[in-house]
Amino acid sequence: MSTPTLARTCTELPRVVGADLRVPLVTGETITYANLDLAASAPALEDVAAHITTLLPYYSSVHRGAGYASQVSTAVLESARAAVGAFVGARSDDVVVFTRNTTDALNLLAGCVPHSGQVLCLDIEHHANLLPWRRRAHRVVRAAATVEQTLAELDSALRSTPTALLAITGASNVTGEVLPVDRIVAIAHAAGARVVVDAAQLAPHRCIDLAATGVDYLALSGHKLYAPYGAGALIGRRDWLDAAPAYLAGGGAVQEVTRDGVEWAPAPHRHEAGTPNVLGAAALAQACRTLAPVLAEAALEHERALLERLRTGLAAIPGVETLRIWADSTDQVAVQSFTVADRPAGYVAAYLSAEHGIGVRDGRFCAHPLLATLNPDSGEAVRVSIGVGTTAEHIDRLIDALTTLVTRGASWTYAPIDGRWAPTPDPRPIDPLGIGALGLPVGPACGPAGH
Ligand code: PMP
Repeated sequence: MSTPTLARTCTELPRVVGADLRVPLVTGETITYANLDLAASAPALEDVAAHITTLLPYYSSVHRGAGYASQVSTAVLESARAAVGAFVGARSDDVVVFTRNTTDALNLLAGCVPHSGQVLCLDIEHHANLLPWRRRAHRVVRAAATVEQTLAELDSALRSTPTALLAITGASNVTGEVLPVDRIVAIAHAAGARVVVDAAQLAPHRCIDLAATGVDYLALSGHKLYAPYGAGALIGRRDWLDAAPAYLAGGGAVQEVTRDGVEWAPAPHRHEAGTPNVLGAAALAQACRTLAPVLAEAALEHERALLERLRTGLAAIPGVETLRIWADSTDQVAVQSFTVADRPAGYVAAYLSAEHGIGVRDGRFCAHPLLATLNPDSGEAVRVSIGVGTTAEHIDRLIDALTTLVTRGASWTYAPIDGRWAPTPDPRPIDPLGIGALGLPVGPACGPAGH
């Protein structure tokens, strides 16, 4: 995809909050945290956090208040809309609806597809891009062994049955593989279908241009884009969004309400009933402004170099197998899943955390059908994901730790506890912030024991 309108050349990578975070090991030492789980949720960019701190004094109601702070907050929300639209190269008549996250955005779109229209998707998708379509007429195409065959399958499925919408991932959250979106749009549009791209994993790694590619709708999450303040977005064509029932019924989504009737507002407000998450939207927009100049070059080079380092390191460890969907895929965002022979994925993840201060993801990554195909033995894997806060030391530490595990074994003992592998014992303090273990209040005992 081409460079978005916000982009300018920049070689400095932005910094993330918590880059120097120290975490405890089971041995009693502490170590700088190696966060290799950015595909799940990424830390805030420092300037996103600073932006929110600057805005907080002005935080007030939006759209209805006459007060100065209300007007500032309203302007912040509406300029955030413009910034998110620019980040994804939205067309001038596209709508940016703020949502909670990608799941919310795709569920919203599922309610906007015209009634008789079928939705088509692949079986490799994250549940967020599978389950919303199950609530309506839909078909699922099995991904073939190659990208070329998969595109041919999609083409034939689209030609055989009239389809309103093709829902496709921009980048797999399991393997990081990227599909050729331009070609998919051409195939879908030739068959009269629109395309929604689940960009939860693509947006943090690649420039996206709706206008240039013809993608009709795009869903993304702020918490994967270094803006973990609870906002995401659905961006795309106005007609379906204006014609659909309001996503939530309530204040802010209407123009006029009488005793018996209601005149709904057009999108985006039609689908944003209730008080919007202004700070979440502002954080997402600030992340977009900061990332746009670096995504095309500095961040891409950084991630590609680290992904190469990771893949080379993993390839040298006996018993480690990396997962991929297609034999001929040519692009991959910095996400990589793998298995370790004879070691459950949860065991490997617990070991990496407890003995090396490394955070990774394990399990089925909300993509159960895909994991059942890629690893029929256990259906599980370990996932490493890399982003702007990742360093070469993080990757090297991971490779050394895995090498130690397969050659000498772990130094601690581990057991499944409540369905998750954990060190036994686990002497690490579980409440470093002093806010109460398991969310219980700190302070005088309350409840029955305090009486
Ligand atoms: N799609 C993909 C590809 C994802 O990786 C995720 C998050 N793991 C989602 C959708 C859902 O994102 P969210 O939880 O932010 O709604």
